[in-house]
Amino acid sequence: LDEPARTERIELLRRLCHERGERCTVQRRVILETVLEFDNHPSADQIFDAVDTRLPGIARTTVYRALDHLARVGVITKACHPGPVARFDPRLELHHHLVCLRCNEFFDFENDSLNKMKIPDTSAFGFEVNDYRVQLRGICKSCKESEKKEESK
Ligand SMILES: [Zn+2]
Ligand SMILES: [Zn+2]
Repeated sequence: LDEPARTERIELLRRLCHERGERCTVQRRVILETVLEFDNHPSADQIFDAVDTRLPGIARTTVYRALDHLARVGVITKACHPGPVARFDPRLELHHHLVCLRCNEFFDFENDSLNKMKIPDTSAFGFEVNDYRVQLRGICKSCKESEKKEESK
């Protein structure tokens, strides 16, 4: 996210923490700022490494807990993807993902008709839907290219 969008998101965190009666600690702010500087979907570990240079000695579990907290408050989202570690999405607005099943990388994908999708009724499951992301699964460009190279060897 660019600088004004980052400042706005930090403001949002302040406001939402205040509404929830929680303290908006420096730690949480720095962790949020760090997530927002990534332009893709950083893993919890990538975020930890970047935070560690700003808040030396911070515990990994503290960062992980703060990330879950930030996602619950609603200033970042947790991304659903096939890899083993949690990944986070700085973008809050509705968008979708192209997911590569070879390398687990995923990319933002914008599409009007997916955005207009009608959310089915899930009340029979006692399940409350907050939002949705469509995953288009397959193989990404760079995996396809390295596959081609393998074949031509
Ligand atoms: Zn790939
Ligand atoms: Zn995304």
